[in-house]
Amino acid sequence: MTVRRYLIAGNWKMHCRQSDGAALAADLAARVGPVADPRFDLLLCPPATIVATISQAVSGSAVSVGGQDCHAQAQGAHTGDIAADMLADVGAGWVIVGHSERRTNHAESNAMVRGKAAAVLRAGLAAIVCVGETEAERDAGQAEQVVAAQLKGSIPDGAAATNTVIAYEPVWAIGTGRTPTLADIAAMHAMIRARLSGLVADPDAVRILYGGSVKPSNAAEILGLPDVDGALVGGASLKADDFWAIAQACP
Ligand code: PEP
Repeated sequence: MTVRRYLIAGNWKMHCRQSDGAALAADLAARVGPVADPRFDLLLCPPATIVATISQAVSGSAVSVGGQDCHAQAQGAHTGDIAADMLADVGAGWVIVGHSERRTNHAESNAMVRGKAAAVLRAGLAAIVCVGETEAERDAGQAEQVVAAQLKGSIPDGAAATNTVIAYEPVWAIGTGRTPTLADIAAMHAMIRARLSGLVADPDAVRILYGGSVKPSNAAEILGLPDVDGALVGGASLKADDFWAIAQACP
């Protein structure tokens, strides 16, 4: 059986300036220390403006740092955009792509997400590719079909367990305090695992995170589900105690 280490990733979204971000990161780095817990990897994805600051704040610890988005190209006339290797240049090892807030607020299609994920891999970083259905899609019984299409359309050539993580984030669960039933999460993760065949080299080894209102009180039951290999955490990642409690809930 393939053993997958848990990944607990914090998506800080558009929160934190240098001082409060560095304090949060340093707090978590002190808890982790220089050697990662045998159960989990801890990743912080701050706004691009403070990736360098946060990288410094966690240096010497086993905490990793990532960006929240990138452009599909390595350079060029793209005002306001950031290339994956620019994030690497300031200490990022990861980039989130296809978060539903990008898909919705910036009209990012699967093809665009795939281009961004490919750019992440070309830059030598690892991509967290987000997928997830809206509430209307779930109510219409289309959740699995939508997520399957997102996987097929968003995962680039060359994706493998070493450079790609999938985050299943039902849009209606993000920042709402609502979560799917445990059975629904398990069913979706099993479907994702099955669909990864043919899309990645080593489907059994790819980590599949759940995201959407993960908090200390529900982390253990979610992280205990089969095929849930970690969490992508928004709101609760902004409080060191809460984020750490989620990580400690890894089996
Ligand atoms: C997210 O935005 O990726 C997320 C999971 O947010 P929250 O934990 O706040 O629902």
